[in-house]
Amino acid sequence: MTVRTRPLGAFALIVAAGAAGAQTPAPATLPAEVQQTVERLIAAGLADRNGYAIIEDLVTRVGPRPAGTPAEGRAREWAADMLRKQGFSDVRVEPFTTTSWQASRETAQITAPFAQPLVIAALGGSPATPASGVTGEVVRFTSLGALRAAAPAAVRDRIVFIDEVMVRAQDGAGYGAATVKRRGCGSTARTLAARACLIRSAGTNTDRFAHQGWGASTAPETQVPSAALAPPDADTLARAVARSAGPVSVRIDIQTQYSTTAPSGNVLAEVRGRDQADQIVLAAAHLDSWSLGQGALDDGAGVAIITAAAKLVNDLPRKPRRSIRVLLAGSEEVVGSDSGGNAYRDAHRNEMHVVAAESDVGDGRVWRLRSRAAGGALPQLRLLQRALAPLGVLPGDNGPTVGGGSDIGPLVATGVPLLALNQDASRYFDVHHTANDTLERVHLADLQQNIAVWAVTLYLMAEMDWDLRQAVDRR
Ligand code: ZN
Ligand code: ZN
Repeated sequence: MTVRTRPLGAFALIVAAGAAGAQTPAPATLPAEVQQTVERLIAAGLADRNGYAIIEDLVTRVGPRPAGTPAEGRAREWAADMLRKQGFSDVRVEPFTTTSWQASRETAQITAPFAQPLVIAALGGSPATPASGVTGEVVRFTSLGALRAAAPAAVRDRIVFIDEVMVRAQDGAGYGAATVKRRGCGSTARTLAARACLIRSAGTNTDRFAHQGWGASTAPETQVPSAALAPPDADTLARAVARSAGPVSVRIDIQTQYSTTAPSGNVLAEVRGRDQADQIVLAAAHLDSWSLGQGALDDGAGVAIITAAAKLVNDLPRKPRRSIRVLLAGSEEVVGSDSGGNAYRDAHRNEMHVVAAESDVGDGRVWRLRSRAAGGALPQLRLLQRALAPLGVLPGDNGPTVGGGSDIGPLVATGVPLLALNQDASRYFDVHHTANDTLERVHLADLQQNIAVWAVTLYLMAEMDWDLRQAVDRR
């Protein structure tokens, strides 16, 4: 090691005082010993079988694990036991209270003029319909904006149908737009006195799987019953509307359970640093899942990737200088303030986090490194990207708007630097939040690429005394 150690706090003060030239020029290459370890970790990651076995065990012993349910509690017990067996230190569960929502029944059918069943998934937070269901005439819109602009008389007492198609994209950009309609439909429809809301699923598949997902971020009493149609069923309904001279009617039956005082928790584990143990490199994924699938990709894959990668670093002959913390968060899928990411920030915001990163795009290969770090850290980030280049990771941008996921988002908002190991999302939203999110959808080679990328990243961030915090806004 040729890199000099320096306390981060003192350095941040120097920069805050506006001292020019305070940054130490980063070496153009990694020290030879570090580079050798990087190569060793890449080889180990690409041959890893541990990560896949973690997903296999999770989906077999626990299966679906919605936030705030007894199944999520079993996932916490499974995770703590698994992390201890993997050899981590300080494994513990940090409980918190969350919102829990579940559908016990979710059915729909076209009742006129072409009667036939529809495949739906109720949206998280949706209120229940009356036990006999709700029936109404369908009025179709191509976007949430079109619904908002509609004349009230065209919507009142009807069932609105937002038929907007999600765009497939490597960077997952289509999902942001898709969640706008998912989150806005139920409350907008209520404002316009509609009876219920249907959306085309926020997904890119053409299979007959509907996509679950949280709907409006507000309480059930502020929405109408809401559900997502499987893509082929959205197509069917759109054709029925187009081909019928008269009204098209749909019946929806959704029964739910809802609580704002359900138990959840975060599970934490550490690789204790050898001489700067109080400096934390945070790696996060989430334990909860939706109920229809097994959460193998969302986010069993993330759990497996960060755990297997941290274990490879933990098993090195010499521990890295800083500590690596594995955060398996509860209640990520719930929209609101009672998530695992918020609970983690509240409990740990005063600790020295040198960087945070999250894995939550299934097994998609990491193709780009983005960051939210001080500009002075760019030479160090370039070294990291170069170390990842043999795994196909391209350089991305650095800036204050780069996001990294909701398990770390609240902590990052306090000024902690962020690494975004962008995964290829081209396939992810075919399966995301559907009954098809099972072990069979996990690709071993892609998972291994992720584990190699994460092992190298965690190792370098924990071993080098890189400071990504310089001049990052702290609130
Ligand atoms: Zn997720
Ligand atoms: Zn999810």
